[in-house]
Amino acid sequence: MRRRDLCSSTQSQALGVRTTTPAFTLNIPSEANHTEQPPAGLGARLQEAGVSILPRRGRPTSTLEKKKKPHLMAEDEPSGALLKPLVFRVDETTPAVVQSVLLERGWNKFDKQEQNAEDWNLYWRTPSFRMAEHNSVKPWQQLNHHPGTTKLTRKDCLAKHLKHMRRMYGTSLYQFIPLTFIMPSDYTKFVAEYFQERQMLGTKHSYWICKPAELSRGRGILIFSDFKDFVFDDMYIVQKYISNPLLIGRYKCDLRIYVCVTGFKPLTIYVYQEGLVRFATEKFDLSNLQNNYAHLTNSSINKSGASYEKIKEVIGHGCKWTLSRFFSYLRSWDVDDLLLWKKIHRMVILTILAIAPSVPFAANCFELFGFDILIDDNLKPWLLEVNYSPALTLDCSTDVLVKRKLVHDIIDLIYLNGLRNEGREASNATHGNSNIDAAKSDRGGLDAHDCLPYDSLSFTSRMYNEDDSVVEKAVSVRPEAAPASQLEGEMSGQDFHLSTREMPQSKSKLRSRHTPHKTLMPYASLFQSHSCKTKTSPCVLSDHGKAPDPQAGNFVLVFPFNEATLGASRNGLNVKRIIQELQKLMNKQHS
Ligand code: ADP
Repeated sequence: MRRRDLCSSTQSQALGVRTTTPAFTLNIPSEANHTEQPPAGLGARLQEAGVSILPRRGRPTSTLEKKKKPHLMAEDEPSGALLKPLVFRVDETTPAVVQSVLLERGWNKFDKQEQNAEDWNLYWRTPSFRMAEHNSVKPWQQLNHHPGTTKLTRKDCLAKHLKHMRRMYGTSLYQFIPLTFIMPSDYTKFVAEYFQERQMLGTKHSYWICKPAELSRGRGILIFSDFKDFVFDDMYIVQKYISNPLLIGRYKCDLRIYVCVTGFKPLTIYVYQEGLVRFATEKFDLSNLQNNYAHLTNSSINKSGASYEKIKEVIGHGCKWTLSRFFSYLRSWDVDDLLLWKKIHRMVILTILAIAPSVPFAANCFELFGFDILIDDNLKPWLLEVNYSPALTLDCSTDVLVKRKLVHDIIDLIYLNGLRNEGREASNATHGNSNIDAAKSDRGGLDAHDCLPYDSLSFTSRMYNEDDSVVEKAVSVRPEAAPASQLEGEMSGQDFHLSTREMPQSKSKLRSRHTPHKTLMPYASLFQSHSCKTKTSPCVLSDHGKAPDPQAGNFVLVFPFNEATLGASRNGLNVKRIIQELQKLMNKQHS
C-alpha cells in the first residue's frame, strides 16, 4: 500500500476529528516483536501516518481496555496486530478543553493503574517537563512543551534576546518591541532616558509601564507618567507605554495570536489564522492611569469589571472578539489587513529566531505560544509579550469558538508534522535521541516528492511538479475590496497616521458587520484552496523530507517560507541567511 493510500484510510481515522470513529493505535503482540521499536513495514508507515504503535510486553496492555474498546485488525498488518485508541496523559494542570477534545476524537485517558508506564501518546500539561522526561520520550509519544522556550516567555529574557538581535541585525527589523529596560540593571539608563524625553516633550507627558518579569494576567502592573510614581522591585521591566493604541468604540484592545513551533531543529513555525482580540472594558483615558479596566486588556482583569456584562459601544457584550471579526472590522474601514497580518507573521519569525539557535534539541515535542500584540493608531503592531501555555480556559462563547478548534487543529498539526520533522532531523542533530533515530529508520523509504508549499510571506505559492520543476503561482490573497492603503505607505517608510485615533463608529456598513458573529478565515482558506487545487502532489515528504506541511486546520506554515530559508534551517540554523531573506522580502514588498 502506498503511503498516500494509507493516509487516506488509516490516517483519517487516526486524525479523525469530529467523527465518531475512534483513533487507533497498533498493539504489536509480543511474539511479533519484543523490543520497544515497532517493526518496519506497515506498522512503521502507520506510525508515520499518525497511528501510534504501542509496545506489548508479553501480555495484553490492559484487560480493562480490551473490554472497553474493540481491538481491530489492521488491513494488511501481520496477523495478531491489534488496533487500539490513542492514549493521552494528563495531570491536574491539563486544561479541561484539551481533555474533552481528545476524548471527542476517540482518544483514551491514560490510567497508570491499568496501563504500562509508557503506553501513552501525548502528555499535555501546563508547566514544562524536566530534561529527563524529554530524554526518555518514546517514538510514539509527544510532549506539549519544548525545553528552553521560557527564554521567550519571561518578559526580561524576551527583552534581552530581542535587544541582542537588534544589535546584530539592525533596528529596522527589530523595531516591534517597545523600548524596554530591565530592572534593576538598566535603572540608570532608564532614568537618563526618562529625563531626556521629559526635556524633549516639554509640558507633554511621557508614559511608561512597569511589569513584573515573571507574572502574568496583568498582576503587579503599574502605569505611570510622573517619575515619583515609579516603584519597582527586582525582576521588573519598565517599558514605553503605547499611549496611542488603536481604539474600537473608544476601547483599547490587543491581539492574542497562537503560534505553534512543531520543531526547533529544523525550525518549523505555524501561525494560527484565528485568535482572540481582548478588550479593555472601560473607555481609554490617559488622564486616569490607575484604571486597569481602561488600560489593561487582560480578560482575567476585565471579566471581573462592572462593565463586562454591559453592551458596550461597537464592541458589544463581554471583552473578546475573534481575530476574524477584528480583521473584518478593519477591512470595513479599508485597512489593508493583509499587510498587517504579514507584519505579524514576520514579527513572529523574528522573535522566535532570537532564541531558536540556543534551544536544545529535543524530539517529539511542540510548543504553543500566545503572542500578545498591540496595534497602535498608525496600524503598527507592537509585541507586548509571549505567553507560555497560553490560557485555554473557556470563559465565554468566543473562547469556546476559538479554543476548541485550536486544540483540534494542534492535534491535527502535530500528528501531521511533529514526529516526522524531529525524527527526520534527529540523525543530523548533534544531541540526537536514539528513540527518534530508531523511529526514523522504521519509517522506510516513501515514494514522495519534496515540495515547497508556498512562500507565506510574499504570498506566492510554489509547488514542485512530478518532474521537480517549480510551479509558481501568485496567490491573490488580498481580501476583496481592500484597496492598497496606509499600511503599504508605512511599509515603505512613510508613517501613515489615521486622521483620528479611533475608527468612526457611525458607519452603517460597520454595524451590519458587527452584529452577526462570523468566523472568517481569509488567509487560511486561500492557502488551502490553492494548495488543494494544484495538480502537483500535495506536500508529501520524502524520507529525507524537505518541506513541512503547509497547513493543518487553521494553522499555516510561516517558517520556512521559501527554499532558501528551508535550506538555512537544516543542519544548524543559519540566522544571518534567514534575516537576509526576510529583508529581501520586505524590500520586495516596499517596491
Ligand atoms: P501580563 O503577562 O501580566 O498579561 P502583559 O505584558 O501582557 O503582561 O501586559 C498586560 C496588559 O497591559 C496588556 O494586555 C496590555 O493591555 C497592557 N500593556 C502591556 N504592555 C504595554 C505597553 N507597552 N503599552 C501599552 N499597553 C501595554
